[in-house]
Amino acid sequence: MELFDAHCHLYKEYYEDKIDEVINNAKANDVLYMINVGVDKETSKEAVDVASNHDGVFAIVGLYPEFCNDDEVDLSFIEELIKTNKNEIVGIGEIGLDYHGEGVNKENQKKHFVEQIELANKYNLPVCIHSRNADMDMLDILKNHKVNKGFLMHCFSSSIEIAKEIIKLRRLHFSCRANYI
Ligand SMILES: [Zn+2]
Repeated sequence: MELFDAHCHLYKEYYEDKIDEVINNAKANDVLYMINVGVDKETSKEAVDVASNHDGVFAIVGLYPEFCNDDEVDLSFIEELIKTNKNEIVGIGEIGLDYHGEGVNKENQKKHFVEQIELANKYNLPVCIHSRNADMDMLDILKNHKVNKGFLMHCFSSSIEIAKEIIKLRRLHFSCRANYI
């Protein structure tokens, strides 16, 4: 059996110098493909580096909702990475809304989520979504901002009713399925 891990975080912060070993172990156990997901500038760069050094490993780059609470955030690293690493980057993420915890600014999270969806559309990439405690706002954004290449709902802690709504939307967004798993 060939397995594809669509979401992992292989960074030095977690694995120190063992990243190669972790990837080799995964491959030895049939996980032949992996998507290494960034959450900010540094981890996105790391995700790309790891992808460029390993066959079967790809990268997703973006700014996680927790880092999108400020009025202005720097998203320029996303375009810089995409322009220089086309072969490694298969999506933008993980991005979305997370209203759990302190310091949440819902308006800013929504604004920067939409900005990153627009970037995904500009570069013809799908997005990987993190959504926690933000059901209605998430549905609202996905209804009004089509991701041309579709999305993968990664973090999801809501009801079956919301899941059904998301699946319906996902079908709409997935008018073109190419390029994404
Ligand atoms: Zn994640």
